[in-house]
Amino acid sequence: MSAPPPYNPEYSSNHPPPSVYPSLHDTEMTEVPPPAGFVQPAHPIVQQPQQTVVVVASTFGPHSTQVTCPHCGTQCQTKTEKNPSIVAYISTVAICCLGGWLGCCLIPLCIDACMDTQHGCPNCGAQLGTYRAF
Ligand SMILES: [Zn+2]
Repeated sequence: MSAPPPYNPEYSSNHPPPSVYPSLHDTEMTEVPPPAGFVQPAHPIVQQPQQTVVVVASTFGPHSTQVTCPHCGTQCQTKTEKNPSIVAYISTVAICCLGGWLGCCLIPLCIDACMDTQHGCPNCGAQLGTYRAF
């Protein structure tokens, strides 16, 4: 029946909670700014999606890639067509001159690494770009 009510008022008066919480927040706030310096480089990444639209058109590789056609606006997989590059023709003539005319001169025309890859739009047939082997 005899509850200790006098302790509560004395405890709260000796240790005021409002002074404790602001000090905790101050220590946390001072720890946050150092990592905040590393967060700054993350902001330029937001600008990258705008630039990638231009970059995609110039990054054609030897294989079919997904692009947005600038002519018809369709997002599609490019239609690739391989043609022997100039280096392949030069190599063919060079091998011919060196005596490899018994079919060996045709090897550069069959090697995939010597082929230029033309990327076209399968929807409208527009030429989107060329990947040059050399
Ligand atoms: Zn197109």
